[in-house]
Amino acid sequence: MNLISHFIDGQLTHAEGTRQADVFNPARGEPCARVALAEPRDVDAAVRAALKAFPAWAATPPLARARILFKYLQLCQQHVDEFAAMVVREHGKTFADAQGEVARGIEVIEFAVGIPQLLKGEFTDQVARGIDAWSMRQPLGVVAGITPFNFPVMVPMWMFPVALACGNTFVLKPSERDPSASLLHARLLKEAGLPDGVFNVVQGDKVAVDALLDHPDVQAISFVGSTPIAEAIYARGSASGKRVQALGGAKNHMVVMPDADMAMAVDALVGAAYGSAGERCMAISVAVAVGDAGDRLVAALAGRTASLKIGDGMAEGAEMGPVITAAAKERIERLIGQGVEQGATLVVDGRGHRVDGCPNGFFVGGTLFDHVTSDMTIYQEEIFGPVLCVVRLPDAGSAVELINANEYGNGVAIFTRDGGVAREFVRQIEVGMVGVNVPLPVPMAFNSFGGWKRSLFGDHHAYGPEGVRFYTRHKAVMERWPAPGKGDAGGGAQFAFPQMK
Ligand code: NAD
Repeated sequence: MNLISHFIDGQLTHAEGTRQADVFNPARGEPCARVALAEPRDVDAAVRAALKAFPAWAATPPLARARILFKYLQLCQQHVDEFAAMVVREHGKTFADAQGEVARGIEVIEFAVGIPQLLKGEFTDQVARGIDAWSMRQPLGVVAGITPFNFPVMVPMWMFPVALACGNTFVLKPSERDPSASLLHARLLKEAGLPDGVFNVVQGDKVAVDALLDHPDVQAISFVGSTPIAEAIYARGSASGKRVQALGGAKNHMVVMPDADMAMAVDALVGAAYGSAGERCMAISVAVAVGDAGDRLVAALAGRTASLKIGDGMAEGAEMGPVITAAAKERIERLIGQGVEQGATLVVDGRGHRVDGCPNGFFVGGTLFDHVTSDMTIYQEEIFGPVLCVVRLPDAGSAVELINANEYGNGVAIFTRDGGVAREFVRQIEVGMVGVNVPLPVPMAFNSFGGWKRSLFGDHHAYGPEGVRFYTRHKAVMERWPAPGKGDAGGGAQFAFPQMK
């Protein structure tokens, strides 16, 4: 079986006798490859390669760096389907959804090729007599990215195109569940002319992550994954003096007001709750039905949920694929059981779902709960599966109260025809990304992505202008060039703070 290895200093590599894990095809429920699991010595080799490559890459003019990324952008455009097929094989989402993932990743390269413009500093003439001040942003050095299973192409692309454009060198630790795409990125970057050592991949698990967190030559860590791990990464990385951005989990609500266009709201909910089997950090997992919206909403959702087309992501017409592992399927089905025990109304039960031709696949059917309350486990936990909970509330104010009390704050949406209600909602809600009649308000590459509360640890959101700030340090410069014998140079030591005259 194919062994997916590391990519260090421009070469595929793994040590003999290395630890390995199975990579599964979740639709088939069987292994499709093996992946090497890095030891600290592998991580050290990758960081050393990146450190060696850093001075020359940082000194490469931004326009020359952008030209390499431009070539890589063209190569990615030519390999969309190859990337997408890898994602379907190892993740399980549908082919069309995987193509969309690649497209959203490519948009970050389109942003990053504008780096000469993005790195421009500020200049102030004559801040004092004969003195000018200016600023520049410089790269940090070796930076690392640790990414989740649910977007194996796109989430790494939230990070490295911007980091490389800024002049850093990079070590990627992708998810061990779907690692193949990381090596296609590496191959295409090399083909585009990226010097060896500038982009490296270490495959692995906690051992590799801990080695990156503790490595003294890693300056910054970008993490995307679940909240408990994000919090631990932020604590350990920042304790050792690194800059850390750690994006965590989510429980995203969509508020449906009684005046909403119900057909549009139902379409939006079905796509946002069940697309990618609910394994998106921006998936809607709670519908908040306000006033008399509840009965109409649940009646329409029930039929749509029960008739979802579920199958292998490559199958014609499939709307939803399997979940990632047998353990994920077992956990989601256990949570559905808990929802029933705690008194929620199970309208559509996706447990035990079978797909013809895929008897061992990790499938969970679309599941719909009504009358869910905030004390239930299915409301509190991020299920990360195709389970939609409907909570019924009397008014918009109580919806805002519920959402603001939730520990997560990644995405939220409101569906209404009333601009005043929407405006107040946008202003009051404590969530990082807000949609008005838009279910998945994922910011474009030239904006920035990030949640609030326990959905993000650190100061910077991902990609866009925030990404450029994260991957660079600001330097303020003041200079004067007095002519010999002129100006106040040589006027003797000055012990008091100078005052402007
Ligand atoms: P995860 O937290 O299990 O894993 C993420 C990464 O951390 C992987 O590379 C994994 O190898 C590593 N890791 C796992 N356990 C670790 C440990 N104990 N110590 C150190 N490293 C460890 O997340 P996942 O299951 O791969 O992805 C799903 C989660 O990611 C969901 O919670 C989802 O909401 C979240 N997510 C968030 C965003 C966002 O932008 N906020 C985007 C995508 C996914």
